Amino acid sequence: MNKKKVDLVLSNCSKLLTCRDGSGDIVGVIENGWVAIDDEEIAFIGQKEEVLEKIEYDESNVIDCSGKVVLPGFVDAHTHLVFGGSRSKEYAAGMTKGGKEKFIKAGNKTGINATIDMTRDVDEEILYHAALTRLHQMMNTGTTTVESKSGYGLTVDSEIKLLEINKKLNRDLPVDIVSTFLGAHGWPDNMEKDEYIEVLINEMIPAVAKRNLAEFCDIWCDDGHYTAEESRLVLKCAEKLGMRPKIHTDAYSYIGGSDLGIDMNMVSVDHLNYTPKSVMKKLAESKIPGVLLPATDFAVKHPVPFDAEAMVEAGMTLALGTNCCPGAWNTSMQLVIMLTCREHGVDVETAIKAATLGGAKALNLDSDRGSIEEGKLADIQIWNTGDYEDVIYKLGINQVEKVIKRGRIIVNNA
Ligand SMILES: [Zn+2]
Repeated sequence: MNKKKVDLVLSNCSKLLTCRDGSGDIVGVIENGWVAIDDEEIAFIGQKEEVLEKIEYDESNVIDCSGKVVLPGFVDAHTHLVFGGSRSKEYAAGMTKGGKEKFIKAGNKTGINATIDMTRDVDEEILYHAALTRLHQMMNTGTTTVESKSGYGLTVDSEIKLLEINKKLNRDLPVDIVSTFLGAHGWPDNMEKDEYIEVLINEMIPAVAKRNLAEFCDIWCDDGHYTAEESRLVLKCAEKLGMRPKIHTDAYSYIGGSDLGIDMNMVSVDHLNYTPKSVMKKLAESKIPGVLLPATDFAVKHPVPFDAEAMVEAGMTLALGTNCCPGAWNTSMQLVIMLTCREHGVDVETAIKAATLGGAKALNLDSDRGSIEEGKLADIQIWNTGDYEDVIYKLGINQVEKVIKRGRIIVNNA
């Protein structure tokens, strides 16, 4: 048999978490596994003998992974990466009883509207560099694919500016950025909601589609935000122009957003604090991933934390996201895994799978990433531990030693 020359070999991985489906255990562990990488792709995986009989590696770069956990790069399935300013004072005020009320009474704007003021008219260069810093932090903690939404501009020009920044970040950094148009994050102060929906449908969505700036279109469907009918209207329009729908929903109420997700066969439904168990069952049957955002539940001290245990029981596909935004400023999927387990009663294997293959499914990218399988992209991280449970056990410690993106080492903390 002809042996294949490969570029990179990961040898003696104490625990190789393939995270592939159908492997018996949740994360598809191979003990003492080997991975052979050819250019951008994973060529072979398996036990030493299985891999060695297929490869020639005299000239390959070999990384000895004994005593290490090796797993797919994280796919962060939900972020608001590009924004200006900071709401640290608002957040700090919210730590004490009545603190936030006092902060508002003193005349300070809060929430999305405060961030819009710090983003809409800010120079593109400044916004780019702020997002770049966050993206570097994401890479350093093991993330190799990031979804990034617009939604802090709410005018045609400013929303396009945010999506253009996504495009530049995708071009300039080795990680992949998947762009989502979220013009319906809210509506501007100076406009009625109905009036803004007209702008979304007649101006913004066509402008984004024409420039091919977004893969997906998202909306916030909740009491006090957009109704399910309004969401359908906006998302149908985007779908016609080639953007698949996603939805922020059931975060603070249940008004039919997750049902709409099923009805429109969305690529994902996100948040899900108030989702009834009957809808979880339907989401499971429809194979629509639920994207969970535990850092947000933690940061806002959510009165109704999402019920991940019930979602697992219903058989749903779960994905995780940092929801990196000014309201829940975090960039680490390791923190997200830790919170998912400790605060929402999920086992560590299920959380790791949700942070890798689950995220890829929520971005419709699981055909080429999210698991360590032959033929998929070599998006891989190496942890400086032999016990993957350390990710939830050793609090606030970055486990990442190396990150490989499309076969190239992009982070080396060794
Ligand atoms: Zn969000």
